[in-house]
Amino acid sequence: MARTEIRIVDATCDACAEAEQTAQAVDVLRIGHEVYDLCKPHLDKFAGYFADLFKKAHQRQEQTQDTRPACVVTGNIPGYSAAEARAAVEGLGYRITGHVDEHTVRIVCGERPAPHKVRLAEENDTPCLDATRPKAFARSIAAGRLDGDDPLPQVRHKLTAADVANSSH
Ligand SMILES: [Zn+2]
Repeated sequence: MARTEIRIVDATCDACAEAEQTAQAVDVLRIGHEVYDLCKPHLDKFAGYFADLFKKAHQRQEQTQDTRPACVVTGNIPGYSAAEARAAVEGLGYRITGHVDEHTVRIVCGERPAPHKVRLAEENDTPCLDATRPKAFARSIAAGRLDGDDPLPQVRHKLTAADVANSSH
């Protein structure tokens, strides 16, 4: 509830005192149990600090509420390092996530994609961009969005010793 406080400050500025100067305090700054008497310039300065801190706290909150569409990139994309592929996708406004779920708008599959990600994409009907098709990825990047409704790559389950034994002639 708003209230009017009438303050009579009869003190010298604590901040000025730190610099061995004396100035008449015009207000008090209260942080928890600490109370500081401050002159007008120091009051403005500290008020500015706090305004910045609140702004930063707010910005950080916005970052956690990331609304960019989620994209998963898996496997090696021909002609791109992992970092380059990532940067290219993020440059289009996508958020790269390491996990396929119902929020994933697209999975970009390069060579040797992670089988568990492909399997989750199957389960979630995640649209796939097959980045092993020549120039498919580069064209999408140039076009400004990740298109394509390619079939998901066939992934085999991890080879076991039994598989190896069975496949040997
Ligand atoms: Zn001061």
